[in-house]
Amino acid sequence: MESRKQLDSLFKPDSIAVIGASNTPGKIGHSVVKNLIESKFQGKIYPINPKEDEIQGIKAYPTVADVPGSIDTAVVTVPAKFVLGVTEECGKKGIQSLIIITSGFSEVGNRELEQQIVDMANSYHMRILGPNIVGVLSNSNKMNASFAPFLPLSGKASLVSQSGALLIAMDASTYTRRIGFEKLISIGNMSDVSIGDTVEWLSEDPETTCISLYIEGIKDGRQFMDVSRKATKPIIALKSGVSAHGAAAAASHTGSLAGAAAVYGAAFQQAGVVQASDLDNLFDRALALSLQPALKGDNLLIITNGGGVGVLATDAAERFGIPLKFAPKEVQDELKKHMPDFGSAKNPVDITGMAGTEWYVESFRYALSHPWTDGVVVLYCETAVSNPLEIAQGIKQAMDESGITDKPVCISYVGGERSEEAMRWLVENGIPAYGAPDVAINAMAALREYAEMRSMMAEDGSTDVKVDREKALKIIADARADGRDSLTEIEAKQVFAAYNLPVTTTLLSKTEDEAVKLAKEVGFPVVMKIVSPDILHKSDAGGVKVNIKDEAGVRDAYQTILKNAKAYKAEANIHGIAIQEMAPWGTEVILGSVNDGTFGPTMMFGLGGIFVEVLKDVTFRVAPVTKGQAERMLGEIRGAPILAGVRGEAPRDKKAMAEVVTLYSKMIVDLASEISETDANPVLVYEEGKGVKVVDARVILKKK
Ligand code: ADP
Ligand code: MG
Repeated sequence: MESRKQLDSLFKPDSIAVIGASNTPGKIGHSVVKNLIESKFQGKIYPINPKEDEIQGIKAYPTVADVPGSIDTAVVTVPAKFVLGVTEECGKKGIQSLIIITSGFSEVGNRELEQQIVDMANSYHMRILGPNIVGVLSNSNKMNASFAPFLPLSGKASLVSQSGALLIAMDASTYTRRIGFEKLISIGNMSDVSIGDTVEWLSEDPETTCISLYIEGIKDGRQFMDVSRKATKPIIALKSGVSAHGAAAAASHTGSLAGAAAVYGAAFQQAGVVQASDLDNLFDRALALSLQPALKGDNLLIITNGGGVGVLATDAAERFGIPLKFAPKEVQDELKKHMPDFGSAKNPVDITGMAGTEWYVESFRYALSHPWTDGVVVLYCETAVSNPLEIAQGIKQAMDESGITDKPVCISYVGGERSEEAMRWLVENGIPAYGAPDVAINAMAALREYAEMRSMMAEDGSTDVKVDREKALKIIADARADGRDSLTEIEAKQVFAAYNLPVTTTLLSKTEDEAVKLAKEVGFPVVMKIVSPDILHKSDAGGVKVNIKDEAGVRDAYQTILKNAKAYKAEANIHGIAIQEMAPWGTEVILGSVNDGTFGPTMMFGLGGIFVEVLKDVTFRVAPVTKGQAERMLGEIRGAPILAGVRGEAPRDKKAMAEVVTLYSKMIVDLASEISETDANPVLVYEEGKGVKVVDARVILKKK
């Protein structure tokens, strides 16, 4: 809690020093003082400037040491080269935190100075926001401790932004969009206070009902996930920069597919963080998440006075994952009473262009209170016979009278100035309103995603299995002793087996005779493969022969594989030839893992063969993966119907597959200090009840 108090000093201080305060317009130290005054900050302001007695009418002090009494936080605006000295002075004064606006640190490669400042601050138990930021703005605290010109339109969501310029632009656009914010926090270089720290603080901030994030890159992914999971209010994130990450050369399939979009997407999903697709979407979703409860089920009812917007909303509902269902007959019968004969009580409920306030309010009142309904979207096209503001007020009144607070309502008005006015009124009165039907539906989808992720997280994530970590570590240590940073397929399968993964029996032969002997032990038919640390893609080297039925076949394959391998890579170190049981045909899938720089061990699942090569039909989770998340992974690839059984084929053993995913994820977490990438390609999935088989395994070790 010590640390929470320190962050209090950043986000709701009672006293602020402005270091580098100025009387010269155009200087940042001028803007910050001016903005604090204009935002009507109620606490103490201490301008610090050695050359002035007064700054903008407020008594100034040469240094913080000269200020009588204590100071909660200091906004630092002096040039970079003075910041270390200032940090020490603030530390000596007992200031709890610094808001360092100054730029010219790690963002331009000046890491060393930034680190010195952090170390200095740490030695005085002082926290740092920034450097390289715009500042902190808080409506409830009437505090504009920034160089953004004014406080945002007041609202209930708070925004944390890694981009300063974007924060200033978003600040201004809160007024044109009619979407308000409580706090805007610029986080800059995150030298000390991280996105996770702000999420943790904001989740206890009574003024904030939704935490919105603009993220370029998180530093500590696991901390972010932990605090996000614990947050008791919705979090929404817009992640930019999702295109470059995957470009780095990767040793495995998984490595090449694990782009930032996939990995961040997985982390958000597991941490219960709703995602935004772009800036507009961040605003629109944050509005709904900050004002309305989660959508706890799929029974969304739409009420409309226009067929066109109704169809657009229907399409959007399907696109955003909440396809519409018809309400039960009793609901339809009742709704029929509030529309002309040619209306429709199906979903969308079309009360027609003749609808005025009464039909809207009465159908809404009934729909909202019926137990079938989980949430309601009201669509309105401006007509001459209706009054948009009156309809808005009627809906609000019906909501209040119903006493229902756990079903979300979103509204879309398409029209002119009268509709704009009504929407403004709605938002001010706690009901999200949007200028297009699909946007209202998308906002509802955000409320649904939030509910779904949270209920997934409530499941028990424990997987109680016996694993043999020591054995796995021994195999890895032996390979390292041999001077290698990858395992052969045989070794990789031994590691997999130590984690109870169902691998094909695989034995190593060093001579043709031994190969024959082992093949008889394993039982025909067998598969034979080259075993060489220098040949990772065995088929490419002509190093795999399947379905070998007898001794002659073994002898023949033995010589062919050796010959092929030598032709492929003359200097390859060949351990021998693997003899393994031939697994019956099954649906090919791929499992894999990477050690992501931000989130650590991360797991991939997808259909194997050409599906992974060409279609990249894969999905990710940060490990460990719970049973529920594993089942979700199987369902979310495009090829999911193949696992469900197409064209008369029996459904595949998804239960066993999900179990394998969780075991695999446990393995990569357990061995994270040793392994960097793995894949199992292919894993064969059999009919329900018949399990799965891992027929190929690859493990790349961390370089040590
Ligand atoms: P690599 O990926 O290094 O080229 P694999 O071990 O994946 O080599 O073998 C290539 C292909 O041979 C696999 O995709 C699979 O279709 C088949 N195969 C490999 N091992 C077996 C096995 N034990 N049982 C059945 N088929 C196998
Ligand atoms: Mg393979």
